[in-house]
Amino acid sequence: MPRYRVGAAGAIGLAVLLPAAGLSASSAATVVAPGHSGRCSAGAHTLSHRGDHVYPETGNGGYTSLHTAVRLVYDATRNMFLPGNHVVLTDRATQCLTSFSLDFERRSVNAAAGPDMTVQSVAVNGHPARFKFVQPTYPGDPHGQNDPNPLAHEASQTNPVGGPHHNPLPPACTPELASTNPAGQNSRNGTQCPASKLVITPPSPIGDGSVFTVTVHYTGRPGVHNDGDGTTEGWFRSDTPSGDGGFVTTEPVGTEDWMPLNDHPSAKPTYDFRDTVNAGKTVLANGVLISVKRHPPGLLFPHGSVTWHWRSVAPVASYLVEDSVGSYDLTERTADNGVRFYEAQASSLSPARKRKNLAIMNTQQDITQFQSQFNGTYPFTSDGVVVGRPRASFEEEMQTMIAFSGGLIDADTFNHENMHQWWGDNVSEANYNLTFFKEGMATFGEFLYAARIAEANAGGPYSPSGQRAFERSLVRQFNQVYASNKQFWVAAPSNPVPFGLFSFSATYLRPGAAYVALRRILGKTNFVQALQQTQRRYGGRVITEPQLEAAFHRWLPNQSVACGARLDRFFTQWFDTAYRPGGGANRPQITGPGLAGPGFYNKACPR
Ligand SMILES: [Zn+2]
Repeated sequence: MPRYRVGAAGAIGLAVLLPAAGLSASSAATVVAPGHSGRCSAGAHTLSHRGDHVYPETGNGGYTSLHTAVRLVYDATRNMFLPGNHVVLTDRATQCLTSFSLDFERRSVNAAAGPDMTVQSVAVNGHPARFKFVQPTYPGDPHGQNDPNPLAHEASQTNPVGGPHHNPLPPACTPELASTNPAGQNSRNGTQCPASKLVITPPSPIGDGSVFTVTVHYTGRPGVHNDGDGTTEGWFRSDTPSGDGGFVTTEPVGTEDWMPLNDHPSAKPTYDFRDTVNAGKTVLANGVLISVKRHPPGLLFPHGSVTWHWRSVAPVASYLVEDSVGSYDLTERTADNGVRFYEAQASSLSPARKRKNLAIMNTQQDITQFQSQFNGTYPFTSDGVVVGRPRASFEEEMQTMIAFSGGLIDADTFNHENMHQWWGDNVSEANYNLTFFKEGMATFGEFLYAARIAEANAGGPYSPSGQRAFERSLVRQFNQVYASNKQFWVAAPSNPVPFGLFSFSATYLRPGAAYVALRRILGKTNFVQALQQTQRRYGGRVITEPQLEAAFHRWLPNQSVACGARLDRFFTQWFDTAYRPGGGANRPQITGPGLAGPGFYNKACPR
């Protein structure tokens, strides 16, 4: 996820990489009659559940996303997708489908930087398919997803919608705010959701279990999404120097502002990118660089063009898809363990700036090795970092290509984003309200980084004094967080409103401190075992809150019923409870041994 918001407070083998050409109409499972159930129906237009109020409009049901072939044809000088620009999504039906949907914000309220794109055609298994754009409906609407009642299609931060008409229904989408001013966070509650659901009707139903391809051709200008907290994300125009290209950081939902997709963190297809751009431009995407092919001048590119091919055999969650285009200095290096490290910087940065950035960028392998001691083997075959020019709202842990904006990188945030490669990227959150789980782990990564510096200053990792300094640093950082008062504890990390989804207190520091406490409760060795087992078990997939908590339960040294119940209360206090303001008694009371607070072990649950 993004790190600090401006203005707002496994197993790789799981991946299925389909042939580059995708499954052609003839080789794909054919469009067939109804599946086992004998009934066919429309796929759900959302992956959320009734009452969900954080981006309930995103994701699509009735199929699983397997692989996506991105085929951008992009003119960087005009920031435009040209004729021929398309994506091919390979999916597997989980029911017999009469129709299904994608997320695609082709136009937005943001006239200046928002998208302005047009769909030319849609094909299913190579056969032309009908398509239309509809508004999302609130999840679980008993009147169905085509409910004619306008109240069923309203935006809100909260549940129910409220707004000017006192709509008692749950929200259908998260409002797109134009500002990060907290006073305006409810200003768009009750407004109509935009029609960003691309509903596709194939010539005949798709049988349950069939693998099918969806090809969408589209042109126009990609752009950014106005978020529920007033920041923007998606495809940022890079115009330094003029006509440079586009810079992609997209959490939580901005990928649909440059390509149609199943836009939900639980949708994790593998990817391959073959982007054709102006000669001289560089494309940066997930995975490894396969080839670069130059083409002579032509109609679309009078000065020539170049096609960059990147491939990720590891699944990529919707908000971690990287696909930036511009003038970059790109280097590639293979470490002893075979992991490739990519470094890219905007070519237009000053030599002095580049040198400073590079000194930090060059630490990625060292950071990865350090973090592997806690998380286990690095989960991907490559890692990388790009420092781009546009001033995006945040830095982001794009999978294997961490994106820094504004021409700058810093070591602390680099540690944070690299920690995400395990937490968020390899093991992803099952839904948006679990954002705290991976932001907490990335914040814990920052705590570890600070502890590592203290350790180095006190004699290094192999000296007793260094090790003591490491532990003291973690305790100190926990205690600083735990001393927070005022509004710090008022939001439950697992129940955010969109405006507070990236709240520094609830989504970052509080769960980060909780992991320090868990390490004390489980013990250093057991804690690491819990992390590594979770990586093995859920790598390439997603995790829910009960699954996460069960993973720590398994490594609790005292497996008594009383200790299990106490750990449950710990999770309820740290992850799920909204306290009254003030701190003190209005904050989690169960902490870890040796930390500020009453500790974990007691008479009923002895250590
Ligand atoms: Zn983060």
